[in-house]
Amino acid sequence: MNLRPYDHAATTCRESSSASVTGYAPRCAARSLTSCHAPPHAGRAVLLAAMIIATMTGGMWSGCAVDVPPLNPFTDLPVIDLDGSPHELTADLSPLGEYAIGEGFRVRIDGDAIRSVRILIADTETNEAGVIAGGGPVGTSFDYPVLEAGRYFAFIRFDESTNQADRTGTITAERSSASDVALLEPPAEGQVVQVIFEEGFLTEPGLWDPDDGTQEEREFLADISDLVRGEVLGRLKAIFADTPIQIIGEGDDPPDGPVSRLTFTPVRVLAEDQDVFDAALPPPDPDFPECQVRVIFGSVLPAGSREDIGNRDPEDEAVVNVGSFQGHGASCRTAVTNSINNIVFAIAQTGAHEIGHLVGLAHVGQIDIMNASATLAFFRDLEFARGQVQFDRFIDGEVVSDILTTVIQDPQIYFRAIFAPRLD
Ligand SMILES: [Zn+2]
Repeated sequence: MNLRPYDHAATTCRESSSASVTGYAPRCAARSLTSCHAPPHAGRAVLLAAMIIATMTGGMWSGCAVDVPPLNPFTDLPVIDLDGSPHELTADLSPLGEYAIGEGFRVRIDGDAIRSVRILIADTETNEAGVIAGGGPVGTSFDYPVLEAGRYFAFIRFDESTNQADRTGTITAERSSASDVALLEPPAEGQVVQVIFEEGFLTEPGLWDPDDGTQEEREFLADISDLVRGEVLGRLKAIFADTPIQIIGEGDDPPDGPVSRLTFTPVRVLAEDQDVFDAALPPPDPDFPECQVRVIFGSVLPAGSREDIGNRDPEDEAVVNVGSFQGHGASCRTAVTNSINNIVFAIAQTGAHEIGHLVGLAHVGQIDIMNASATLAFFRDLEFARGQVQFDRFIDGEVVSDILTTVIQDPQIYFRAIFAPRLD
């Protein structure tokens, strides 16, 4: 794996020491408050709240060397002005207030350095986290009809390569009444995904190594192609059976409405230096350093796209690059090719992972289908489970992973939040 072991504390502090970020980093926000320099984003109310908490808990607020208890942005930040006018972003988390099912809001976030906008709902298991409940584009207003009652937040991520000073932006938001929401196009009940296998997906080159493979191996892979195709499709249908995502095969008639597509292609795709998304090293083997080649196992299209936050595009496409599982060279055979079972596992779970991205699921730190490298490293049944969101970025030639301990992905809640309940 190419992922550096993560460190919760380091992650939290690196982010929060920046001027424009507090949202998910309560401990470090508190730390920056104690450093004599109130961060520019910390409004008077927040500072006051910190001081009040400090007093209430026996802490001392007397200049620099104080031990101020952490801010909790999920409970301590005030709801922003919902007046439909732009306001400067003062934190990466903007509370939008409490909403009932059928109500909603319209939000627009602008800022050159802002990479993504997610909508979070207050976690019901802890008051120190938000659960991803959708999202929308940067620089365009979007409507969010509430399908799950709760307190809502807008959560932004900046492009990590930008300077702290450039990390600015505005938020424009207003509440929508039930009658406003009724005028919107109703949310889809689910997403149909058609699964396609390109000709020769296991052999051209697919799992066949064109330099060191034998003709017998290639014929074997050709012989099992139909079997693998059926097994992979069956596994994908089973994985998504209890979700609003409906998997159909090439021969199935697509139902009315938009269809996304997942294609298994035979190509082997090497990662460029800057690729961090779904690019990974095979599991390390110190005896064969020549095998540590970074490849891309799959991608939302166009290549390099990240997840479709909020499933805004119901006709998007993704690929699984079967050739990337090959283990190129005689000494670099991977466990993928050891058995039909492993082949099916590896490419089906990578397919499920990419379908997760097509509907907006992010990477999580846990061993899960949405783990960034799980499909190669773990040959066992994985699931879509609740987990802490992980962001990867490229710094000084290395992929660095940050786990956001206060941003939770819970596929059940996410699906309930973005898809309308089925009436049948
Ligand atoms: Zn991924």
